Amino acid sequence: MSKFIFVTGGVLSSLGKGVTSASIGAILEGMGYRITLQKLDPYLNVDPGTMSPYQHGEVFVTEDGAETDLDLGHYERFTEAVMTKDNNITAGKVYFNVIARERKGDYLGATVQVIPHITEEIKELIRKVKEDKDVVIVEVGGTVGDIESLPFLEAVRQLSLELGRGNSMFIHVTYVPYIKTAGELKTKPTQHSVKELRAIGIQPDAIICRADRPLPRGIKAKIALFSNVEESCVISAPDLDYIYDLPNKFKEEGLDRIIADKLNLEYRNSNLGRWKKIVNILKNADQSVKVGVIGKYTELRDAYKSISEALIHGGIANNLKVEIIWKSSEGVDISEIRELDAILIPGGFGERGIKGKMEALRVGREEEIPTFGICLGMQMMAVEFARNVIGLKEANSTEFDPHTPYPVIDLMEDQKKVSNLGGTMRLGAYPCVLKEGTKARKIYGKSLIHERHRHRYEFNNSFREVFESNGIVFSGLSPDGKLVEIMELDNHPWYIGCQFHPEFKSKPFAPHPLFASFIKAAALRKGIS
Ligand code: GLN
Repeated sequence: MSKFIFVTGGVLSSLGKGVTSASIGAILEGMGYRITLQKLDPYLNVDPGTMSPYQHGEVFVTEDGAETDLDLGHYERFTEAVMTKDNNITAGKVYFNVIARERKGDYLGATVQVIPHITEEIKELIRKVKEDKDVVIVEVGGTVGDIESLPFLEAVRQLSLELGRGNSMFIHVTYVPYIKTAGELKTKPTQHSVKELRAIGIQPDAIICRADRPLPRGIKAKIALFSNVEESCVISAPDLDYIYDLPNKFKEEGLDRIIADKLNLEYRNSNLGRWKKIVNILKNADQSVKVGVIGKYTELRDAYKSISEALIHGGIANNLKVEIIWKSSEGVDISEIRELDAILIPGGFGERGIKGKMEALRVGREEEIPTFGICLGMQMMAVEFARNVIGLKEANSTEFDPHTPYPVIDLMEDQKKVSNLGGTMRLGAYPCVLKEGTKARKIYGKSLIHERHRHRYEFNNSFREVFESNGIVFSGLSPDGKLVEIMELDNHPWYIGCQFHPEFKSKPFAPHPLFASFIKAAALRKGIS
């Protein structure tokens, strides 16, 4: 039977509950246990696919094509767990299912209510994810005290009772602010949030305290006393230079023992050797490259979480630090672009900032700066190339100009029929065949790859020939040859665009080959070898 860890949050959001849950997964894997993770999100969107990255950060796409919360990205980067559509449950999805059942008459005349119908549905969706795992880590989104998260907290409370003693535990993540004027760490917000949790019937087994510094013994003792937890179960989680150091810190604080004890699991010394190695590389790399990410949502770093992590992984692969320079695609300054060691144009939707992206691409192409276009980035590479190299001045994507005479990026027939916006893109993993003798083929070291997609528009095949005769190589195609997946420039050190999102598959221990090679090219440009 699987055991469950329920992770709740208190005081405020953005405490890194996702990374915390992922790190708990990492230490359990280090102990040799098979784990998976699940995120419960209290909002009413059925999935975050229709939400702006400004509101919610990046939409993480799973292998099976679900558009999910960005925390699932942390889960995959920190652990071996494979995320699917079942690993992210939103209140919207829960209500959608319950209302669909009610319409079918499944409730046999009952009055349909939050308790028990919504809570039963939540429990069913949680149970569904366990498969053959030893431990399931369930992160409850939101903050304790929010009206929205109540049904989720009630459902996990019931579930823990049903699972029986020793089969589940609660870990509460809170914030302990340092008040400068008093020169003190304050425990009151934590006390209150635990009180709130206990009022709804949940007694935490351990408390993870986020703070800008380590918690001294006295503070831990105070939190333990007021929260009714053992002092050894108050864990200090100070700000870290590298998030990949968190599993190490948790082990130092004894979290592996606490979990084994509370879940009645055999204690095994958690082997975190690979995490230590990663942190050592990050700490000791003495050279760095500057990569400019030119996008629309650069004010909110979370909007490009997987990209920034994948760039760091590319650095790990080359023993280099990667300095990411975020540049808004509105108002791109060419002289600043020239100072970069490499340029990355990420995916996106909508016309804002398109001109700036194309300007940066032109400079990257003409001045032989390593340039990486991802999804919309690749599409803009095609438009820029059509306009400035082939001479089709009015070339465009029909996303931005439906009447362009040169629709180099266009919808395929099946997408033209779609009217709903939610969940209707080309989503999830698709195969791609790499052409012999190309850069992409060499970078991947194999001919068949699978990469994740999230887009509606594609390269328009009627323009393939003219692109090829002008120096573009279509190095990755769908197995039937109908879809362009990768394009590269022949006479350029590194100018590659891909229609998919490679960033979703990069891990610190397995940096994505395209990112590793991109960072290597940046280093070469800078003269580091
Ligand atoms: N807006 C483009 C499309 O729908 C690109 C999407 C993306 O970059 N993820 O095809």
